[in-house]
Amino acid sequence: MKRVFSGARPTGRQHIGNYLGAIQNYVKLQQEHQCFYCVVDIHALTTMEDFDVLQDNIREMVLDWLAAGLDPEKSIIFVQSHVPLVMELHTLLSMVTPLGWLLRVPTFKEKARLQPHNVNYGLVGYPVLMTADIVLYKAELVPVGEDQIPHLELAREIVRRFNNLFGPTFPEPQALLSRFPIVLGLDGKLKMSKSLDNHIELAASPQETRERVLKAFTDQERLFRHQPGRPEVCNIYRLHQFFSTEHLDRIYHECTHALLGCVEDKEFLAQRINHTLEPFRERRAQLQNRPQYVREVLAWGAERAYAIAKETLQEVKGRMHLL
Ligand code: SF4
Repeated sequence: MKRVFSGARPTGRQHIGNYLGAIQNYVKLQQEHQCFYCVVDIHALTTMEDFDVLQDNIREMVLDWLAAGLDPEKSIIFVQSHVPLVMELHTLLSMVTPLGWLLRVPTFKEKARLQPHNVNYGLVGYPVLMTADIVLYKAELVPVGEDQIPHLELAREIVRRFNNLFGPTFPEPQALLSRFPIVLGLDGKLKMSKSLDNHIELAASPQETRERVLKAFTDQERLFRHQPGRPEVCNIYRLHQFFSTEHLDRIYHECTHALLGCVEDKEFLAQRINHTLEPFRERRAQLQNRPQYVREVLAWGAERAYAIAKETLQEVKGRMHLL
């Protein structure tokens, strides 16, 4: 089985955009690959301002992953800093990475613009650490959306340079292009995100979910119920495409013929979301009753990841004449 690596920042409780955009794909991939799912806590430090919430965020995120179907028997689920060898490899890879490559990275420029008070060294070295994350486990595939291809290309360049200088050591990681749907937030304008507060948490209660959906924007030109709506521009209709597939034709027809009011339709969407997430929520509640469970999963993941990482690092040090 090919190895797949994916890292996610510890953002705490996950929302339906995270689920449809990534977690669902994670669950599918573990059926056919050896997957490494890593909570990249060190990466988070480059932009984090409130460090007190870090551990809670890790636990809540992993709880959501497990409740959604990530299986620790099939996948190695772990926290980046629990396998500190990645930092050693990061240092070694940084010796073969020209600074110019890193300063050109658009996300570095963007982050430097967004946090001019904190343009830290970690931000510049981010792609090197990301490369270390992947190659420490000799992963061959990395699930990415099209927007992340440039980052992976840089990782491949670093790998090529290392392999040229010291002999073939790492496989060049390939992009596993996944068409992640972009899920818009409840404002109907921007991508669903916690920081924009336009999201619905997977673990929200049915009542919270309903309240959030009822506040969502719809077709902004539809002001009265007797006016036909435009499902093609309505975010509620977009969400129906994920949660109410068998009702799409009816909703489209009734909306465009002014037979369905937006409030009524939102009530229906909330019911559909709650119905779909019911098994997830039940499972999450069960897992939550086992306070040590997430800790055990992560400890076991780190143990297995460490064994592989140790071998890779030995090989790298040998190649670099450090032994
Ligand atoms: S009826 Fe539904 S699809 Fe039509 S505009 Fe209202 S919320 Fe959108």
